[in-house]
Amino acid sequence: MANEPIREPTRSLEAPASAAEARQAESGGAAGGFWSVEVYRYDPEQSPQGHMLAYQVPRIEKITILDVLVYIQRHYDRSLAFRYACRLGMCGTCTVMVNGVPRWACRTSIERLGVDTIRIAPLRFLPVVKDVLVDYEPFFTKYRVAQSYFVPREERTEVAPISPVSRERRAIDPNLECITCGACYASCTMLGHDAEYLGPAALNRAYTLVRDSRDGARHERLTAVGGEHGCWRCHSLFNCTEVCPKHLSPTRAIQGLKRAIVLDWLRERLGSLSRKEAP
Ligand code: SF4
Repeated sequence: MANEPIREPTRSLEAPASAAEARQAESGGAAGGFWSVEVYRYDPEQSPQGHMLAYQVPRIEKITILDVLVYIQRHYDRSLAFRYACRLGMCGTCTVMVNGVPRWACRTSIERLGVDTIRIAPLRFLPVVKDVLVDYEPFFTKYRVAQSYFVPREERTEVAPISPVSRERRAIDPNLECITCGACYASCTMLGHDAEYLGPAALNRAYTLVRDSRDGARHERLTAVGGEHGCWRCHSLFNCTEVCPKHLSPTRAIQGLKRAIVLDWLRERLGSLSRKEAP
């Protein structure tokens, strides 16, 4: 069902509502036709069930998914709920499912998708608050469970740098720039089987800390991530790696955690054997 546009108040003295609208104004309207956009609508105060609702959005050059959401909110339904902040691909808060794939809304050009119909839905495996707005609480709870926070090895009063050319830094660097957008989490098939699985983002962060010589909680963290819902659940399908907009590989980080657990286990066993054999 296509939605009727709402009557738009006169905004002649206001700035255009979005970059898309600015381009639309420049190009003289929707001469290029319309995109068919379906958006997941859910309002717990109206109905316990969500549904997809179709909208027509002008084909505007370089229009992004975020532009589309802003357009629908301004022209069809001001109650449409979604989240965004920086609009620059820095904060990651606008991440939604676009035709089944988690993507940053602000950096996803519709033209580049190469499809005629766009379906926008909330991130998978997170509770929906309203429409495409999700609650990240379970996502961040798993950071706490995985102990994915820095625990200083010792009290310091001065900065403790790690040399940028050191082996340690080179091991950490490829997994460091996570902005907690949740795209990897929503792409992970294991979360569909085990809702308590810690997920790629929390495990990725845990790995960077396990490799950090300044951290003092290696044993506790490896115990936390090596549990029933931890890294051993990962089947290395690389879904998270494929969708990460920052080009990180949580899969490789999870493999690193598995190696660290095995190495520590071997060291412990070999240490206790040699202690037993000592005269
Ligand atoms: Fe987003 Fe990548 Fe971090 Fe996952 S690892 S939360 S996809 S930036």
